[in-house]
Amino acid sequence: MRGPRDDCLFCTLVRDADHVHTADGFVAIADINPQAPVHLLVLPERHVDTFRDVGEFPPDEAKRMLEFVAATAAHAGLTDYRVVVNVGPGGGQTVFHLHWHILGGRPMGETL
Ligand code: AMP
Ligand code: ZN
Repeated sequence: MRGPRDDCLFCTLVRDADHVHTADGFVAIADINPQAPVHLLVLPERHVDTFRDVGEFPPDEAKRMLEFVAATAAHAGLTDYRVVVNVGPGGGQTVFHLHWHILGGRPMGETL
């Protein structure tokens, strides 16, 4: 599914939320329920349900998405951090629009 979905929370937030960082095709927002001092979500504008479907991204867009994750962490002042993608309900995914969690601002090494 390529276009925005009216019933998708993150398609709405891509358009309407306060963005902490943006690039062509991507936005980063603050997580509403932060699990670390810095907890950002990177959302691609393109609606893809889950990371399983990452192949729906054209190669250049997939590369730019990864670069945007790294650039967003740097923009937030992080050098060391954790990047998480929950995949499917069993993987902890609750919003079915692909997103990347960036967690940092405290030592992230104690737990997975
Ligand atoms: P996941 O469980 O991997 O699907 O992650 C969904 C994330 O979205 C959770 O960390 C939520 O706290 C976050 N979230 C849900 N609603 C909002 C919202 N309105 N604004 C920002 N983050 C949200
Ligand atoms: Zn969506």
